Amino acid sequence: MERVAIGIDIGGTNIEIGIVNKQGTILLSFRWKTSDFLQAEEFVARLAQTTENLLSNNDWRIIGIGIGAPTANYYTGAIEYAPNMPWKGIIPLQRMTYQATGIPTKLTNDANAVAHGELVFGAGREMKHFSVITLGTGLGSGIVVDGHVLYGQHGLAGEFGHTQVDPNGRQCSCGRLGCLETYVSIRGIELTYQKLGGKENLNPRDIYLRAQQGDELSIETYKKTAQILGNKLADLVHLFDPEAIFLYGGVANAHPLIIPVAQAEMDRQLLKAFRGKVQIRPSDLLDKKGAVLGAAALIWQDEK
Ligand SMILES: [Zn+2]
Repeated sequence: MERVAIGIDIGGTNIEIGIVNKQGTILLSFRWKTSDFLQAEEFVARLAQTTENLLSNNDWRIIGIGIGAPTANYYTGAIEYAPNMPWKGIIPLQRMTYQATGIPTKLTNDANAVAHGELVFGAGREMKHFSVITLGTGLGSGIVVDGHVLYGQHGLAGEFGHTQVDPNGRQCSCGRLGCLETYVSIRGIELTYQKLGGKENLNPRDIYLRAQQGDELSIETYKKTAQILGNKLADLVHLFDPEAIFLYGGVANAHPLIIPVAQAEMDRQLLKAFRGKVQIRPSDLLDKKGAVLGAAALIWQDEK
């Protein structure tokens, strides 16, 4: 009988589920539409039914369920006021999942889940101090100190996306002006492209493809984005002296354009003592289902 963990990545659009063994291999994975579950109760009921079917059809013992979700709190086990989810308010998903399935469950936010994944299954296995920056709809971050993901007093540590670039800058969804994620995110890149004179509504992937073909405006868009990121990463390095910073998420697929510029800008902004010592790298989990692996790593980390 093989011992496995279930890793679940809950997003505003899809719920990705994977059965993950101790080595970090995804034995089976599937995807549900988040909008199919108007209430979290419907989701946990379906999950309970599915785990029962999986157990009767496979020679597995499920040792735990790890869940990564937006604005999820590791300490309270609840999703708290997720802006892009059909489930409103405070959802005690950890307790609900455990009650429905009888399987021990852990919950964290999506960026921290990827940090757990990097720590247990990725390049972080060899490191004790690093950060994972997730670049997508927003900018999330997980900070690993002394081999542990940093949670802070209230389970809220690592909101790097809401540190400020410009006090008179772009309006952020959080209410503040000029947060990092208003520049370095899907929407941020689209806006920068338009502000530089782009007439079309292109997404970051299209802009990246054009940049690769030599389009000046697209190259400039990524250069500007990477400079802003590199500048703020210098702040992050000054705060906790990591060994590396990993980039994860859809936008991070443009890392051949982002990293050289961000690395140069970060080194330029760093105190001399830090220069050349901290690498910005694509996450080891970038081409894999990193969020699912990370959620499963919440369970496997206890055995490492
Ligand atoms: Zn903000």
